[in-house]
Amino acid sequence: MVTPPAMPRGTAGGGTTAGRSPVDPGLVSRLAVRVVATSGREHTSYAPFTGEPIATLETSSPADVAEAVRRAQTAQRSWSRVPLDLRAAILLRFHDLVFDRQRELLDLVQLESGKARKHAFEEVAHVALTARYYARTAGRLLRTSRRRGVLPLLTRVDVHRVPKGVVGVISPWNYPFSLAMCDGLPALVAGNTVVHKPDSQGIGTALLGVELLTEAGLPADAWQVVHGDGPVLGPPLVDAVDYLSFTGSTGTGRQVATRAAERLVGASLELGGKNPMLVLHDADLDRAADGAVRACFSSAGQICVGVERLFVADQVYEEFVERFLRRVHAQRLSAAFDYTGDVGSLVSAAQLDRVAGHVEDARAKGAVVLAGGRPRPDVGPWFYEPTVLAHVTPEMACFGEETFGPVVSLYRFTDETDAVARANDGTFGLNASIYTSDGARGRRLARAIRSGTVNVNEAYGATFGSIDAPMGGMRDSGLGRRQGPEGIYRYVDQQAVATQRAMPLAAPPGLSDERYARLMTGAFRLLNRLHRP
Ligand code: NAD
Repeated sequence: MVTPPAMPRGTAGGGTTAGRSPVDPGLVSRLAVRVVATSGREHTSYAPFTGEPIATLETSSPADVAEAVRRAQTAQRSWSRVPLDLRAAILLRFHDLVFDRQRELLDLVQLESGKARKHAFEEVAHVALTARYYARTAGRLLRTSRRRGVLPLLTRVDVHRVPKGVVGVISPWNYPFSLAMCDGLPALVAGNTVVHKPDSQGIGTALLGVELLTEAGLPADAWQVVHGDGPVLGPPLVDAVDYLSFTGSTGTGRQVATRAAERLVGASLELGGKNPMLVLHDADLDRAADGAVRACFSSAGQICVGVERLFVADQVYEEFVERFLRRVHAQRLSAAFDYTGDVGSLVSAAQLDRVAGHVEDARAKGAVVLAGGRPRPDVGPWFYEPTVLAHVTPEMACFGEETFGPVVSLYRFTDETDAVARANDGTFGLNASIYTSDGARGRRLARAIRSGTVNVNEAYGATFGSIDAPMGGMRDSGLGRRQGPEGIYRYVDQQAVATQRAMPLAAPPGLSDERYARLMTGAFRLLNRLHRP
């Protein structure tokens, strides 16, 4: 078999020397004073670019989780009384601070996640957009609203939005800034406080985010952080909070959902995917090939809404593949803390093993490697080349399982029905992408795809960045939605207060129950006629 050529390393481009961190070595330890942690045990995180330690921090115990929730409960009583416009103003100040401190944030996101700087910037932008969106819309979304009563004019109904109390947030390592902050911001502006368990690999970034919120005016204790193993801290957190926002794998999400159900507290679950991209016969192939590179290799493929299955119309398959591969081979692998690289590192040795395992399994069972397919220790210990596979079949792990790495499988399709059926294959339903020169056709096909978001002529950023629209998974990809009005309504209980005027909802004195029933039947029939559409 012909071995594809090695992909180029990025150059430092006059910027920081590749791999050498510009982050102050004491920063994460200093930020860690905010963590509620007294277990006496420690955890060390490692920088993916070099494999060197970032920080060794004391971890939290289940008792620390209980203490963090207790502090958050106390803080919530006064925070919920702060007028909403003042809570929103803190989010707007936070928005500006995120951009003011962008360089520091980008450095830390790169240090902890190993991603390329342009992908770290997506996180910074996403957090700022989310802060602005909820600051600007919360007043309208949360104000008391009037609804129709059972009897027009006689029944007045007001609907109030009451904060749940303390919201637990559990976030993964792959978007350490965005996924740490974006679920907590709407919870805060709605009058809740937060207890957050970030993944240990993203603890520094999460803590820097909380520091910026504090600088923006958030009271101490309104956002508590605990640090440590998910199986140790997750269960006591779910057992103590009033709502749980979880982002991570489908397997862990199921455990969290089961536990939350036992307590009858709500949970939103943002889980895994095996997302398809469809390139239709009429697509602009250069645009589609550019989009496919972003879809498949952003954050080295460690992105929940990224694409791992690429379906191309028969008529344009060869032409598309040629253009796509040309772009894949030009991707610059880089461990530099600047914008010279296209693809960063995998986050850990375990993630490298998983990705390499999927590719080796596919290769052994007959898949053809069209690009990549090998680790790149010359760039950094856990780098893996952007990889394109063909002839992938259902018995290969990468056919249906989430790889969560820079690996995409190419398939051909015959017509739209075939394309939609293949896209809907499997149990996930997080994100999809369709390239076509006919936007209306793309939108029509999107309605047939069972996924929570569909991007037409974009990879994933169009839905991800459109904060006014709900985002989340169908089927095994999750429950509930972040972003949009749905993203804040999950954090409030809706309370209906109905005031009955003049006439009670029962037979008045002197009227028999039978005559009352007849009277009401007539009244409801009349209302039905009046309210016909
Ligand atoms: P993971 O499920 O292993 O961990 C996610 C978080 O849950 C971490 O903070 C972890 O410490 C914690 N955790 C682990 N066990 C727990 C338990 N028993 N109870 C409570 N919490 C526990 O996932 P991961 O490997 O860190 O992240 C990658 C996965 O996340 C992928 O499947 C990816 O698709 C998914 N993801 C989904 C979205 C989305 O928005 N849908 C976004 C990013 C990542």
